[in-house]
Amino acid sequence: MTPAIPYQQQVMLAEWTTYRVGGTAQWFACPRTLADLHRLLTWATAEQAPVTVLGAGSNVLVSDRGIEGLVLCTRYLRGATWDEQTGQVTAAAGMPLPQLAWEAARRGWQGLAWAVGIPGTVGGAVVMNAGAQGGCTAEYLVSAEVWMDGHIVTLTPAELGYSYRFSKLQITPGVVLSACWQCTPGHNPAVLLRQTGDYLHHRRTTQPYHLPSCGSVFRNPPNYKAGWLIEQSGLKGYQIGQAQVSPLHANFIVNLGGATAQHIYDLICHVQATVAQRWGIQLQPEVKFIGDFS
Ligand SMILES: Cc1cc2nc3c(=O)[nH]c(=O)nc-3n(C[C@H](O)[C@H](O)[C@H](O)COP(=O)(O)OP(=O)(O)OC[C@H]3O[C@@H](n4cnc5c(N)ncnc54)[C@H](O)[C@@H]3O)c2cc1C
Repeated sequence: MTPAIPYQQQVMLAEWTTYRVGGTAQWFACPRTLADLHRLLTWATAEQAPVTVLGAGSNVLVSDRGIEGLVLCTRYLRGATWDEQTGQVTAAAGMPLPQLAWEAARRGWQGLAWAVGIPGTVGGAVVMNAGAQGGCTAEYLVSAEVWMDGHIVTLTPAELGYSYRFSKLQITPGVVLSACWQCTPGHNPAVLLRQTGDYLHHRRTTQPYHLPSCGSVFRNPPNYKAGWLIEQSGLKGYQIGQAQVSPLHANFIVNLGGATAQHIYDLICHVQATVAQRWGIQLQPEVKFIGDFS
């Protein structure tokens, strides 16, 4: 049995992640409609093929050995509806967060400026409880539509079990189809556009935006900033192959060009071990490892 829509075989995933590393997907598809997504999921279920979902690939490290089964990239599921009465925007899973943030500001809707510097999709934000500048997904999400076991369910933030950079979707398989966010319309667009621009400028000047990365590699442990612990452990600039602890922001591990996923993984392990030895704190990765790193 084959899906009735195009899919490709042996696709290099490096091109689909912000780290620019990773091996091939056995099967790969980028559905542009929900109907195509449903067909692919039905096909994968019938084939008993494992399914891996990628949004913008901005918080993943994909193994050099690639991934078995079907990789579904949701980034072309676009579109949003803006309800002036309720101040709620419902956006498809593949909608880029920065686009959502800019559009909200243009409309004078307050609530999403924090998302402007996060280079992920709506689906990825729901799963990761993405956040920045004091705001986060859990705070502004009304509900998310999720494909689970062949059914579409609507989940509230409480049902998603949100905590810092965590949702239950990180442990329970599901595909986020869309998400509804609560904003407050009626603000001055010029003020919101300036605030949104300021947030973006701050990010671009304090983080190594120009090099491939996954953003912050580690969650901040209680009472500490992971970046500070790494910096105080003397690891800024430390390199394995072409993977480097960023000299600008120590919680970023960047690909200087030509790094492999294994280099990055080995550097993550080295940072963890060094910080544990120096501070007695076990840093927990925020980045999601996909595939085999053993
Ligand atoms: C330069 C840079 C800066 C960053 N800054 C921040 C920041 O300030 N704050 C922050 O929170 N994060 C930040 N990140 C990390 C990342 O952008 C966020 O975690 C983002 O929410 C991930 O979205 P994504 O679409 O790229 O998800 P991906 O990286 O593609 O996937 C992440 C996880 O979500 C799952 N997933 C993705 N889409 C779906 C879907 N539709 N259904 C089910 N599962 C799905 C994947 O399987 C994976 O487990 C940064 C990353 C970079 C590269």
